[in-house]
Amino acid sequence: MAAIDGLPPLREVIRAHDLVAKKQLGQNFLLDLNLTARIARAAGDLTGCDVLEVGPGPGGLTRGLLAEGARRVLAVEKDPRCLPALAEIANAYPGRLEVINGDALEVDVAAHLAAPIRIVANLPYNVGTELLVRWLTPKVWPPFWDSLTLMFQKEVAERIVAKPRTEHYGRLALLAQWRCEARIVLTLPPEAFTPAPKVYSAVVHLTRLESPRYPADGAVLARITAMAFNQRRKMLRSSLKGMGAGIEEKLVAAGIAPTARAEEIALEQFCALARLVAAD
Ligand code: SAM
Repeated sequence: MAAIDGLPPLREVIRAHDLVAKKQLGQNFLLDLNLTARIARAAGDLTGCDVLEVGPGPGGLTRGLLAEGARRVLAVEKDPRCLPALAEIANAYPGRLEVINGDALEVDVAAHLAAPIRIVANLPYNVGTELLVRWLTPKVWPPFWDSLTLMFQKEVAERIVAKPRTEHYGRLALLAQWRCEARIVLTLPPEAFTPAPKVYSAVVHLTRLESPRYPADGAVLARITAMAFNQRRKMLRSSLKGMGAGIEEKLVAAGIAPTARAEEIALEQFCALARLVAAD
């Protein structure tokens, strides 16, 4: 059956361009256009927005984003084998799809995008977390994007939205929730992808806050949480020894029991501690 964009089904695209999936590029493709449309809709209203997509592959999600009305899509793809398939999509949506053949960790995308900007991607597993951390830790806030709608392995998604005293709570949760609203909007079984990965996947939607939830210096907060969670089973008075003399008093002043462990401490308390450390 022809798709609404008049382009061939994705299985045909993959066959025509001989896109045999490469494991080292994290290639697990979504071939169901109803599903890619659902992910595109989870990103919110795309009309009037530029969208950055990392790793379009054969273009299933790209087609979803364009069909859902994105003003423009900038797609950064490392695998040159995907370029002819993406060129066919660009022809079907004149002036609305720009493709850059390159590594998303190296390409400077800002010059190619105009606000408002949303980032939507089925990320390659090997670079997904690194890209997320970069998007969450720019020098200035608010960042260049309004929202992130990203597919991760389910476990990574759970680390992003985790609450204190739960298994997945840690640095990623604090980093994400300090300056964003984060929630899981879709969970997918391995069979949703071709080839099927070993694990479940989930889409996380993050909306940036105009300013951080609680005041704190980002670098100090990052240092404290890195130290605290590197030894997450230890009491904070010992895992945070490296923060210098007087850390025990500062913990108390921040409302944290020095015998508590990192996973029991809420974001608000970590921010209070970061302010006390920075004030020294
Ligand atoms: N978006 C497609 C989909 O949903 O079917 C493909 C998703 S697949 C999980 C990840 C894609 O990212 C692949 O097309 C892969 O070639 C590409 N990729 C891997 N590493 C990349 C990098 N560093 N920069 C840009 N693209 C990359």
